[in-house]
Order: sequence, then structure tokens, then C-alpha cells
Amino acid sequence: MTKKQEEKEKEVTVEEKLRTLYSLQEKLSEIDKIKILRGELPLEVADLEDEIVGLNTRIGKFEADFKNAEASISQQKQKIQESEMKISKYKEQLDNVRNNREFDHLSKEVEFESLEIELAEKKIREFTQDSKNLSEQVEKSKELLTERSADLKQKKDELDEIVTETKQQEEQIREEVKNVETEIEPRLLQAFRRIRKSTRNGLAIVCIERGACGGCFNKIPPQKQMDIKMGKKIIVCEYCGRIMVDPELVGATEE
Ligand SMILES: [Zn+2]
Repeated sequence: MTKKQEEKEKEVTVEEKLRTLYSLQEKLSEIDKIKILRGELPLEVADLEDEIVGLNTRIGKFEADFKNAEASISQQKQKIQESEMKISKYKEQLDNVRNNREFDHLSKEVEFESLEIELAEKKIREFTQDSKNLSEQVEKSKELLTERSADLKQKKDELDEIVTETKQQEEQIREEVKNVETEIEPRLLQAFRRIRKSTRNGLAIVCIERGACGGCFNKIPPQKQMDIKMGKKIIVCEYCGRIMVDPELVGATEE
């Protein structure tokens, strides 16, 4: 290493390193946000698609049941017609009975067919109620289907838009990340990446907030708080392992 290079190395203060790390974190968090944004929409789209398949199946079933009910109604109407025909035939025969036995027999047949008609009428009332309920269900499900299809279209459009929009954005941020990373010494960058991987929210460097770590919110001892404020050392949280910085140092406003 030449003297000039050495001097240049020295020029990079801890403060600057922290600022660079913080800016890297901001960019990576932006990428994380894009991923979260996309991560939910495809799921919502898939859920809606499933729901629509389910609704179509339900409508198909209701329509089939409706058709069956209607067929049963005409079947029962047919039965009534047949019984009525039989009754009029028996009544004609009743006009020409030769004995009591024949009269009793025909009367019983008329009575039987009358009961058959009553039964068929009762069934028709039931099937009519069924078919009315079913057509209402079909109506309702179709309304829901229209609503959900509109929702799906909206979500799909939204997703397409985000994917198109964020693709460019993400590529641009990744390019920026690469540039920032070259400014960080390899060992520090490695440590940063390791911390980031170990946290659930992907934050490897956090600001201190009201004397607490901005990552895990544990209180920081006063002496350590002072050291962080000075920005002369890289200090990690003893609880969560995140690098802690003073918000003023990295130009972040406390929330
Ligand atoms: Zn912490």
C-alpha cells in the first residue's frame, strides 16, 4: 500500500462508515418493501381465483338442482293429468255400473286417484318452494361472482402495474446497492450481511430511539449511548446484535 492509499484509507472515518452502512440499509429496506408489496398481491389474486372457481361450482350445482326441481314439477303435473283422466274414465263407468261390487271398486279407484292428485299437488308445492330458493341462491351467487370478478381484475391490474413499475425501480436500487457496497470494506460488509440475515425485519443497522435500540427496543446503558453519539466506534446492541447509530449522525429524523 502506498502512502497516499494509506492516507485515503484513514480518511474513511467510522462516522462515514456508519453513514454508508445506513444508506445501504435504506436501499435494502426499499427492496424488502417492494418484495413485501408483491408478496401479498399474488396471494390475494390466488385467493380470489380460488373463490371464483368455488362460486362457479356452486352456481353449477344450484342450477342443476333447480333443473331437477323443475323436472319434478312437470313430472308431478303429468301424474295429476293421468289421475284426472283415470277419474273421468271411472266416473263414466260409474254411470253404467251393474252391481254394488263394481260400484265400490270404482269408487275406491276414484278415491285413490284423488289422493294421488293431492299428494302430487303437495309435492309440486314443495318443489316450487325448492326451485324458488334455488333460483334465489343462483341469483345471489352470480351477484357475488360479479363482485369477486371485478375485485380480481382490479387486484390483477394492480399486481401487473406493481411488477412493471417496481421491476425498474428494483433494478435501479440494486445498482445503487452495488455502488454503495464497493465503498464498504469487505469484512464490515460481511458482518453487516450476517446481522441482516439474522434479523426478522432485515434491519442490520438501526437508530437509537429515546435511549433504546431501535431494533429490539432494549434500553442502552448511558455510557454506550454516549459512545454511539460520538460515532467513533461501531457499536452493536448486546441484545439483538444490530449496529446502532445516532439518528443525527445519519440524518434520520426520530419518529
Ligand atoms: Zn437491539
